[in-house]
Amino acid sequence: MNTSRRSFLKGLGLGGVALSTPKLVFAAAETIVKKEAMLPEPKGNRVVIVGGGWAGLTVAKYLKKEAPNAEVILIEKRPNFFSCPISNEWLADLVSLDFLSHDYNQPAAKYGYKFINTTVLAIERDKRRVYTPHGYIQYDYLVLAPGIKYNYSAWFKDNKDLIKYTMLHYPSAFIPGSEHLALKRKIWNFEEGEFVITVPPGAYRCPPAPYERAAMIAYVFKKNKVKGRVVILDPKPEIVPKGPGFMAAYNELYAGIVEYVPNAHIKEVDPIKKVIKTSQGDFNFTDANLNPPHQAGELVWMADLIAKDKDGKPTGWADQDHLTFQAKSDPRVFLVGDVIGGVPYPKSGHMANSQGKIVAKIIAARMMGKDITPALPDNTCYSMVNGDPQEAIVISVEYSFNEKEKKIVPKPKVINQRSQQLAKATYEWAKGLYRDMFA
Ligand SMILES: Cc1cc2nc3c(=O)[nH]c(=O)nc-3n(C[C@H](O)[C@H](O)[C@H](O)COP(=O)(O)OP(=O)(O)OC[C@H]3O[C@@H](n4cnc5c(N)ncnc54)[C@H](O)[C@@H]3O)c2cc1C
Repeated sequence: MNTSRRSFLKGLGLGGVALSTPKLVFAAAETIVKKEAMLPEPKGNRVVIVGGGWAGLTVAKYLKKEAPNAEVILIEKRPNFFSCPISNEWLADLVSLDFLSHDYNQPAAKYGYKFINTTVLAIERDKRRVYTPHGYIQYDYLVLAPGIKYNYSAWFKDNKDLIKYTMLHYPSAFIPGSEHLALKRKIWNFEEGEFVITVPPGAYRCPPAPYERAAMIAYVFKKNKVKGRVVILDPKPEIVPKGPGFMAAYNELYAGIVEYVPNAHIKEVDPIKKVIKTSQGDFNFTDANLNPPHQAGELVWMADLIAKDKDGKPTGWADQDHLTFQAKSDPRVFLVGDVIGGVPYPKSGHMANSQGKIVAKIIAARMMGKDITPALPDNTCYSMVNGDPQEAIVISVEYSFNEKEKKIVPKPKVINQRSQQLAKATYEWAKGLYRDMFA
């Protein structure tokens, strides 16, 4: 069985039984394989983008601008868009849900791409098809931008009950949806005790987000005069980025409320007894925001496009060209946003949006038979650290390519001095990017 056939079956949840129970495979596979989704024949190249987040939405809009004759289809499983950026401010009631929520129809109508609200269940790269519950869709180019998935197995191996229990009782809220609503309810109902936040090890979505979240929760406790402490368990030796800015806020605004614990490598999580065993000791919690390690979204695994380390073990992140975002093993597939690996780019909405514009230009050029020198993306990330008055800190990073060493080199600029001016700029930044993707 070839690789993409195997990954296709895996996508249907049938990878392990393919050879021993062929009838079952055929019955289930046939219902999807034989049916082509009802779409008009494309007039030009068809580009299918899976994932309507910060990366996918940007590719869809800018590809239509760069290549108006291409048929661009954006597939997203959620009916509407909820922004993780500014969600920490929303947890602290500094903005309304409206600020974070956007609809998919307006940009699709305005920019002329097709929006399909469905889930991609499997990918067959050798046939250039993505499979949905409504049938398969054929592509000339495929853009995979599914964001991240949680890796609870790092804590619980294959104990599904513990994984489910943790997801239900201590939601991470690094993927938007009900988890955010549940987390907000927890924070505002918290009465007394220790509220623990775990920082994921390795690469994870939005490096400053757990520290900003801790500041916003501490702000809520302080405002509501709750006798609670926020304990941050961080595997890193110090906060990165904006460490001095976060530490100043914790010490000056939330003394006695926030405890920052560096070098806290998690050994065991017991969500039932409410204890986390770490290299810095055991921590009991009253309530928690438990954030497991992150990995590239499931679709990248399904498509067999995960990079391997030198021992042949999956790194957890996509194996794409560092400059063109093209899958190393498949020139028809591009990987954008939080899924990518092997580059010094943070996993951020700003970064995903910036990459999306570059990828749109590259695909448009490829369709015209041209090669272009890809630009490098950039990043800006504000973090709110105070709610009254609202005050923020910021990092912005430009990147250059060192030809000699064939390396992407970051040049960061950080403002650790919190200010109301930066708080204002935070919302202007968000509005600017929402406008870019939706208005
Ligand atoms: C609390 C928090 C705060 C943050 N703050 C900031 C900030 O201030 N600034 C900043 O720049 N970034 C911030 N981020 C990071 C930012 O949210 C992510 O980096 C960004 O969302 C990545 O974009 P993406 O397109 O790669 O993934 P996403 O935005 O997650 O989009 C992926 C999409 O793919 C869809 N999808 C997945 N699988 C399928 C499938 N099989 N079929 C169909 N659709 C599928 C998902 O539903 C999702 O909509 C923050 C994140 C968090 C959690």
